Amino acid sequence: MNFDYSIGGMTDLCQRLEAVRRRIQAACQQHQRDDNEVQLLAVSKTQSIEAVNAVWRCGQTRFGENYAQELLEKSTALAQAEWHFIGALQSNKSRLVAEHASWVHGIDRIKIAERLSAQRPDHLPALQCLIQVNIDLESNKNGVTLDELPALIDAIRELPTLRLRGLMAIPLATDNECEQRRSFAAMRQAFDEHRSDEHWDTLSMGMSQDLEAAIAEGSTLVRIGTAIFGPRQYA
Ligand SMILES: *Cc1c(COP(=O)(O)O)cnc(C)c1O
Repeated sequence: MNFDYSIGGMTDLCQRLEAVRRRIQAACQQHQRDDNEVQLLAVSKTQSIEAVNAVWRCGQTRFGENYAQELLEKSTALAQAEWHFIGALQSNKSRLVAEHASWVHGIDRIKIAERLSAQRPDHLPALQCLIQVNIDLESNKNGVTLDELPALIDAIRELPTLRLRGLMAIPLATDNECEQRRSFAAMRQAFDEHRSDEHWDTLSMGMSQDLEAAIAEGSTLVRIGTAIFGPRQYA
């Protein structure tokens, strides 16, 4: 007998996606939030296009990628999905991102925002942008400090073809829920302080290990990779 493990694997993906949705619902319920306040971004970096297609067929519509080349390949293969670029933005890759993403989460300097604005094709809607904040001031992470945030917000708002939607953070990795919540709460406070127009509506925080803490503190979008796709498939 030959078993087709790919089919079993794909069913598994749907079950894991459902399990993540249930975690989101449970966290919303626990913190008196409506579940439609929290969007799920499936982070498909390093995963095959077959796996992405399977998750799409289970009803997931938003996907996140960290590498411009993978964004290009997968967004071309599955153009109906909404593609978010969540990786570190290098200047020489900004054109690919401007041409293939609907959202960019990691803006942390005006130069890159200007490039994205100039490179966004005219026939596409505005590129939806989030500023990355280095909330725990880690030397190995991108992002602005809270002090640098106001100037960057003002500068991005001047740019045509970009629409600033809010903030994103990747806090210090820890499994201590108090520490997780402390970073997320600081983000939430910054998010509330800088709210100024009706487009400021997205606070991107929470991953597989800490989505509950993020939702407790007001996340509106969680970015989930491993809990949906399993371990990453590094070549
Ligand atoms: C990889 C990645 C994720 C997903 O992380 P998991 O722990 O696998 O859920 C979320 N956000 C960013 C920015 C990432 O690079």
